[in-house]
Amino acid sequence: MPVPGLGLLSYRLAGNVAPTKGARVRVPLGNRTVTGCIVDVDGPRPEGAELRDLDEVLDDHPFLPPLVVDLALWVGEYYASGPGAALAIAMPPAARRGETSSFRTVKVATLVGEVEGDPPVKGRKQRDALARLRGQPGGVPLPDLAKHGIGWDTVRSLVALNLVCVREDEHLRDPFSDEGEDGGGGRWTLARRDGPAPELTPEQALVFRHLEEAAASASFHVALLHGVTGSGKTEIYLQLARQVLSRGRRVLVLVPEIALTPSVVGQFRARFGSRVAIQHSALSTGERHDQWHRIRRGDIDVVVGTRSAVFAPLEQVGLIVVDEEHESAYKQEEAPRYHGRDVAVVRGRMEQALVVLGSATPSLESAVNARSGRYEAFHLTQRVLDRPLATVRIVDMRREYAAHGADVTLSAPLLEAIEDRLAKAEQSLVLLNRRGFATVTFCRQCGSSLECPHCSVALTFHRAQRRVRCHYCNYAAAVPKRCGACGGEFLEQSGFGTERLEADLGARFPGARIVRVDRDTIRRRGAIARVLRDVERGAIDILVGTQMIAKGHDFPAVTLVGVVSADVGLGFADFRAAERTFQLLTQVVGRAGRGDTPGEAIVQTLYPDHYAVRAAAAQDYATFFEREMTFRTSLHYPPIVALINVVVKGRSLEAAMTDAHELVKRVRLHGPRGTVVGPAPAPMSKIKDEYRAQFFLKGAHRRPMRVALERALDERPELRRKAFVDVDPVGVL
Ligand code: ADP
Ligand code: ZN
Repeated sequence: MPVPGLGLLSYRLAGNVAPTKGARVRVPLGNRTVTGCIVDVDGPRPEGAELRDLDEVLDDHPFLPPLVVDLALWVGEYYASGPGAALAIAMPPAARRGETSSFRTVKVATLVGEVEGDPPVKGRKQRDALARLRGQPGGVPLPDLAKHGIGWDTVRSLVALNLVCVREDEHLRDPFSDEGEDGGGGRWTLARRDGPAPELTPEQALVFRHLEEAAASASFHVALLHGVTGSGKTEIYLQLARQVLSRGRRVLVLVPEIALTPSVVGQFRARFGSRVAIQHSALSTGERHDQWHRIRRGDIDVVVGTRSAVFAPLEQVGLIVVDEEHESAYKQEEAPRYHGRDVAVVRGRMEQALVVLGSATPSLESAVNARSGRYEAFHLTQRVLDRPLATVRIVDMRREYAAHGADVTLSAPLLEAIEDRLAKAEQSLVLLNRRGFATVTFCRQCGSSLECPHCSVALTFHRAQRRVRCHYCNYAAAVPKRCGACGGEFLEQSGFGTERLEADLGARFPGARIVRVDRDTIRRRGAIARVLRDVERGAIDILVGTQMIAKGHDFPAVTLVGVVSADVGLGFADFRAAERTFQLLTQVVGRAGRGDTPGEAIVQTLYPDHYAVRAAAAQDYATFFEREMTFRTSLHYPPIVALINVVVKGRSLEAAMTDAHELVKRVRLHGPRGTVVGPAPAPMSKIKDEYRAQFFLKGAHRRPMRVALERALDERPELRRKAFVDVDPVGVL
């Protein structure tokens, strides 16, 4: 499990097994035996086919709650991935292979009784062991004894003497433990003091009363909570969670990325203690396994996790929160290509629960649903404690280039502002959404640039590593001395990333404490939490980084945010580019001035008049929404229409295009009229040595498009391996 392209299969029950929906089974498939999951116990018998016997039922009880089975089946159909891939992500990895649910255990030694007088022991080690066990009625784990040189041999001989007994205890691997790599505070949370819950502001209270009522009704509701950054959305989630728990139902909280949202995890942990579990892919396999089984056993009331946590085996869910619902990280970019937010809404309907989608910059999809009345909209327009929003200054980089040359990375106004903050011992945040030192290396003689041999992209120069790197496939090489095309000796670099910014800032402000945060510097788990703590305690003057630092964090002492290039994205052949730019800028502007000092944001751009830049600077969501909807409507893009993206891969572009044409022809035949756009070479026409052709299906309804595609693939089954279907795509490059 899962087997690509395979639908549901039927098997006959042999013997007196009594399987239940959600239990795992071993079944024959071809000449193999595979692990499967029961989705229906007495479904209709398929016509004609001879049923094979099921080998073995692995679980007496549903391994997956039946509701989660239904959710996975919905995902398999809606996202056209098939049921297997969807059921598999609902299980921890070991469980997919049919391993039975066991916790890792640890052996614990205890004294049989109080040892009186002189025990009949031999040697220093045995004596030492008894000394350590004395006065420890709970016993001592063997690994702890081993640390003191007392091995299993010694313990076993004491057992043989009937002085000591050994039992097995469950040993839970706890991702919150302080043994984390960071030491102190655990890897996944920021240490936070939690007092009593604060009294809600009048604006929060009004929203809370409505949501509370919806939650209490125990029926399906979706609320879009549109609140400016710092308006106290998290506090509303926390107090709603308290209410829902008090009524005996459970809570699921989705966040886009745990490493980027340790404060949400920390706040839930601080408020609800050890009955909070986290679920996400950066946990070790063991941690994930243990957390999953604790949830399944009912030991957990609140699950905080990334998109796959939407399948958490919680029962009796009364509240589902999707924080930062607009984030593209909710979309899984491999099969099943599901959107965590949308699956959360479907789960909410199945659970008869309240679903709260929170954002300062709601996705157009959710905003349209709120307009049409499918979702109920709530607004928080004020920051808690009336902290003012940052003032925003837009710097036209065309003028900076004209005045100071095309090599400028940091504009004069931004440099002055940083200098001013350094003088006042306040912190600055400088954001650029590109890593590396230089983004292009080209030959001055023939003009050709250094491309990845496996992908159709330019290689990025990383100065610290003295290498050029591909950001798609991670190919790396030493910087060549000569041009590969003409042999020219003068290679030049242009374009810049965060590494160059860090160097420029260091040269300009030699005394400043500068830290860079991007995927090159934050390799290790938990490293970002440490940087955040350093910012919090004032050990950093300037924080430079990619969008990793723009999102979700609370930096009370940061009074200046510089956005170095607000254009990344606007030039792309991607219909969501303006929306992403707007979101990023709005979020980043919301980072400044959260403390008592009002903040300032300086936005450098080549497009000072673009509506995404202007609306973000004015924190004007409504205007952005109108302009963007006009654009989407005129070009027929989501959320005006439903979109399915199909990428066909091949050994050559010609081969990929031929196969894509073949599918398109058949989809046209089976589908509603006018639904297919393409095929054409994908904007990234080669990634990791695979060439990519692409076509889109557009229409009012997904089902007929999916059906047409399914029929086309049924007629050319050999193309299933090459065609990648993405329903409701987020990235289309
Ligand atoms: P958002 O999630 O909307 O960006 P947060 O929930 O992070 O905003 O709230 C911003 C800050 O205000 C946090 O430090 C939070 O603890 C604080 N806060 C929220 N609600 C209240 C309240 N009612 N009284 C006092 N402080 C509050
Ligand atoms: Zn590459």
